[in-house]
Amino acid sequence: MTKIVVAVKYVPDATADRTFDADNTVDRENVDGLLSELDEYAVEQALQVIEDGDGEVTVLTVGPADASDAVRKALQMGADAGVHVEDDAIAGSDAFATSLILAKAIEKLDYDMVFFGMGSTDAGMGVVPTLVAERLGLPAITFASEISVDGDTVKIRRDGDAATHQIEATGKLVVSVTDQTGEARYPSFKGIMAAKKKPVEEWSLSDLGIDAAEVGGDNAWTKVESTTPRPPRTAGEIVTDEGDGGTKLVEFLASKKFV
Ligand SMILES: Cc1cc2nc3c(=O)[nH]c(=O)nc-3n(C[C@H](O)[C@H](O)[C@H](O)COP(=O)(O)OP(=O)(O)OC[C@H]3O[C@@H](n4cnc5c(N)ncnc54)[C@H](O)[C@@H]3O)c2cc1C
Repeated sequence: MTKIVVAVKYVPDATADRTFDADNTVDRENVDGLLSELDEYAVEQALQVIEDGDGEVTVLTVGPADASDAVRKALQMGADAGVHVEDDAIAGSDAFATSLILAKAIEKLDYDMVFFGMGSTDAGMGVVPTLVAERLGLPAITFASEISVDGDTVKIRRDGDAATHQIEATGKLVVSVTDQTGEARYPSFKGIMAAKKKPVEEWSLSDLGIDAAEVGGDNAWTKVESTTPRPPRTAGEIVTDEGDGGTKLVEFLASKKFV
């Protein structure tokens, strides 16, 4: 029986207007949230690993009350159970503290592998999977664009700029997956109905034996000092072809040092 924990993050919808609060944290109150699209790939891969055999997928999130929506979506896709760590003291935690909470929660679960997305669609640091692996004392194989599991051996393909790597690890491990692993499934009506009955555990920091002084904005190692909205895009320059369109185009490109 293969037991996989998939860490999923609840993020502000990237298609909405996103803003920051006065303390430079992301305003998560006034924008709809959802399961980070990059984490859907990790859920999909976990479901595929257990599809042919005996297995179980548990999704884990750390976040405010609404973050349970991310867990619910993964359950609708087919995951078996969920865990939501929520505590007022977590607000403003940085990636380092987030990794502590995730690692403590994973230690409480029975698992063979832990899957992550390659990054989140809000902060997108891409460091949480390896921070968690370090805390758990496990190998991490990251940025998998293809995964195959045979018993307790996991093989991944990692596509780099100059080479493609085939990597293999055995035993308990952490894997992060890219958006190249294959489309994530949509929840079916049957899946949506079945998800309502699936168990979701709610844990607080004390359930994990974490002191509030180890997490939260006041104790963060990294803080955002200021935020500046990107200036709106300016209209492009239109070149009208009056027989000299090609020349004008080249002149424009040359002025931008493209040619
Ligand atoms: C409600 C909330 C408020 C936050 N406020 C702040 C803040 O004010 N300032 C600040 O610096 N940081 C804050 N953070 C933390 C910040 O977003 C972390 O840096 C973050 O959790 C790590 O995400 P990332 O995008 O950097 O990780 P990445 O390394 O890019 O993400 C990789 C993968 O890690 C997993 N993952 C990441 N975060 C979580 C999570 N919370 N639960 C489950 N899986 C996860 C996902 O699979 C994700 O795809 C907050 C986090 C949350 C949940």
